[in-house]
Amino acid sequence: MKTIERIKKKQWRAKTTTSIESLPQDLIVEIVAQLVSQSATPISDLEKLQMTCKMFRAASKTKLIGQRISLKKEWNLHWWNKRRYFAILEHCAAVGNPEACFILGLENVFNLGRMSLGLCYLEKAIIGGYGAAIYTMGILLFGDHRTRQMGMQLLNRIRAVGTDTVRRDVLESVRMITMNKRSPGQIERCTNPTCGRVEGWNERQSFCSEICQWTSEYVEFYTNM
Ligand SMILES: [Zn+2]
Repeated sequence: MKTIERIKKKQWRAKTTTSIESLPQDLIVEIVAQLVSQSATPISDLEKLQMTCKMFRAASKTKLIGQRISLKKEWNLHWWNKRRYFAILEHCAAVGNPEACFILGLENVFNLGRMSLGLCYLEKAIIGGYGAAIYTMGILLFGDHRTRQMGMQLLNRIRAVGTDTVRRDVLESVRMITMNKRSPGQIERCTNPTCGRVEGWNERQSFCSEICQWTSEYVEFYTNM
């Protein structure tokens, strides 16, 4: 009788003991994805995790991790090993990481002067739902009279979020990428003296048209770069 009880106890213990190996692979991938999207040092955390066991090593190489890793938090790597940083960015952009696409877009437009490649990356970031990329693409397209209407459509999508917040976020990233100043180019300003005046209890600027509002935003962006 005692022997049967002992066997049952052993079986129960075996059933209730959890080890990493007993977890489904999907769950391990999700745990690693959560870590790399929230960690302040995702690359070094991922490397440490890869050394702990083969399950984590396998999980860290999946597409989902490349899609979710937050590379904006690794700006210091951009300074001490730019080549490696961009290699990681390109790998992540290839699997559809919107933040990686956004940073590569900024690098190509504002640092390397490759506008069309930069716009391709920004478009990928927009598909991934990256708000800062919508704003950046909007500003860039607004700058050319041939694509101004498209630029305004994109900028209107950002209006609800608040352009001040998004502009600050984009400018912060641009300054990390390059110290180069870009000129806004020739853009016609409104001659109405009351256009852009601060009015009302909420101290909002009042413009005579949508074009005037986005022209002001466009100039604000380049002035603060
Ligand atoms: Zn105006």
